[in-house]
Amino acid sequence: MTDAFTFRIDGVDVLARPGQTIMEAADAAGIYIPRLCDHEGLRHQGGCRVCTVRAGGRSVAACTQPAEPGLDVENDTPARNRIRRDLVEMLFHEGNHLCPICEKSGNCELQAMAYRLEMTQPTRFPWLEPCRALDASHPDIALDTNRCISCGRCIRASQDIDGKGVFGYVGRGIHRRVAVNGPDLAHTGAAVTDAAMAVCPVGCIIRKGEGFSTPIGERAFDHGLIGHEIEEKRK
Ligand code: SF4
Repeated sequence: MTDAFTFRIDGVDVLARPGQTIMEAADAAGIYIPRLCDHEGLRHQGGCRVCTVRAGGRSVAACTQPAEPGLDVENDTPARNRIRRDLVEMLFHEGNHLCPICEKSGNCELQAMAYRLEMTQPTRFPWLEPCRALDASHPDIALDTNRCISCGRCIRASQDIDGKGVFGYVGRGIHRRVAVNGPDLAHTGAAVTDAAMAVCPVGCIIRKGEGFSTPIGERAFDHGLIGHEIEEKRK
């Protein structure tokens, strides 16, 4: 491999190519770095901060930080995972993530991340309980932004893959949320076949008529922690 170099993640030597991010090299080596806003095929954003690792004495987002020769990266440690659990816990508190009545339960990356990080009692922050209106105007798709984690995947997919720009952010700070580029979803170019409709990690973008179709025991995260498909490359 031309110009390949090694660096270390939690003491394990990892091979990387120039320009690869820490996360890309880790994925190829079978080392899972937790993430929520990153998704295969989408440009990296570095927004959720769940992938934050300690590298070269600094906290950096592994999805955007290039790997460097000799870099020492701290990833899967109690301290890192405690910070990640706090971030995930804050996401639960900011939205209405009522898993027992959510059709994404068992297929939800936020829920799966909470399980992986052993988030058993989310009680340390105030519950904000937003009351954002459900947009069910589209015949095939509904949008419940009370479950949105502002990962921006739908925005990037709609812009970069679908070439439509259906989604975007409105508002600032804690009031920032995903909105559609029109009076409602029905009055956009959104189609159920868009890439943007397939990348939502939570139960915010909902395909109508598909809810609860997968039996318990056969859902995406019923048999393995999130990230296990990456870790299995090492076995
Ligand atoms: S709607 Fe889904 S994909 Fe879009 S920002 Fe919210 S959580 Fe992410």
